[in-house]
Amino acid sequence: MKPMGAIPQEFKSLPMTIGGRSVEELLTSSPLFVYDSAVIRSRISRFRAACPGIDLHYAVKANPFPPLLAAMAPLVDGFDVASAGELARVTKLGKAVSFAGPGKTDAELDAAIGAGVTINLESEGETDRALAVADRLGRKPRLAVRVNPEFELRGSGMRMGGRASPFGVDAERVPALVKRILAADAEWRGFHIFAGSQALDPAAIIDSQAHTLELALRLADMAGASPPLVNLGGGFGIPYFPGEQALDIEAIGVALTPRLDALPDTRFAIELGRWLVGEAGVYLTRIVDRKESRGEVFLVCDGGLNHQLAATGNLGTVVRRNYPVAVATASADSRCEIVSVVGPLCTPLDRLADQVELPVAGQGDVIAVFMAGAYGLTASPWEFLGHPRPAEILV
Ligand SMILES: *Cc1c(COP(=O)(O)O)cnc(C)c1O
Repeated sequence: MKPMGAIPQEFKSLPMTIGGRSVEELLTSSPLFVYDSAVIRSRISRFRAACPGIDLHYAVKANPFPPLLAAMAPLVDGFDVASAGELARVTKLGKAVSFAGPGKTDAELDAAIGAGVTINLESEGETDRALAVADRLGRKPRLAVRVNPEFELRGSGMRMGGRASPFGVDAERVPALVKRILAADAEWRGFHIFAGSQALDPAAIIDSQAHTLELALRLADMAGASPPLVNLGGGFGIPYFPGEQALDIEAIGVALTPRLDALPDTRFAIELGRWLVGEAGVYLTRIVDRKESRGEVFLVCDGGLNHQLAATGNLGTVVRRNYPVAVATASADSRCEIVSVVGPLCTPLDRLADQVELPVAGQGDVIAVFMAGAYGLTASPWEFLGHPRPAEILV
């Protein structure tokens, strides 16, 4: 038997319900992603309590499902997008929007500047193009500089600083760029400093935020201008795997809030994706076949890596570990056995759970894969092998 990650508190009881609705009631077609808005609201309230006075931005790339964006709009201070497609999904929601990401095309800059969105500039070349687009449109562009810092977020699942990078402008070149933006009579919006993702150690985040603040202070000083906004990045992780602990964000807030007095005229924002929505999502997939092979039981489902690539260990992990899964249709007193849960694709990579202990299940039962609210469907190759696109629902 191999261990699996912990099932989020909200979904532990059997038979499982999501937003007060039974799995069979929700599952009019399988597979299905269900996002529980109550879980998202509770994460947002917890952030508000822990980090008072700090703006909360939602990083749309974690989950761009339109009803989810509409539900979040009144609860967050802004949306961070990374393409014109994401921008189109949030422009009507009436929130501040910033646009980061390398390789913004002229067409994307045009759409963003036309919509009054803040561009987080990734290079000097992009700055030239943004200024030219703004000139053509007769608009005063809102420009922030994304900084490639010289430090990185320790223990981060994905490190994005301290080295050569396609993201952001190397810190030492930032003051000159800010001066250039100011001289071009654009509206300078400040700095965006993102040092990494998926960290579970509060000390690492506290450290990285302290460095981020110092850097913002130093760059502002060198540029001779006070930044209206400093986006401190995010990096708040969630516990996917056995032994991982939920992040103590209260400790982060306690360390961070007093430090912000160093820049009294600046607003601060934290941008979060998975921490806000990851645990709110459940991927439901029905068992099509139960088979045994050489003494092992396989539960073969109607969806797998084509919809939930990350859970199969194929989205940026080195060692495959089990996400939390459950038999959603089981009762609390079912007998358990050791099984592997696989999807319908013709590849050994399509394994949602490897030799886990689950209640005995068969054809027609439903498997729930948790932690599916972020980087689920949109980060999966859903056209691979030609199965239908799964449905999504917000409850
Ligand atoms: C992807 C990304 C995020 C969101 O990361 P999470 O780990 O989901 O919180 C935030 N900011 C930037 C710049 C990103 O690229």
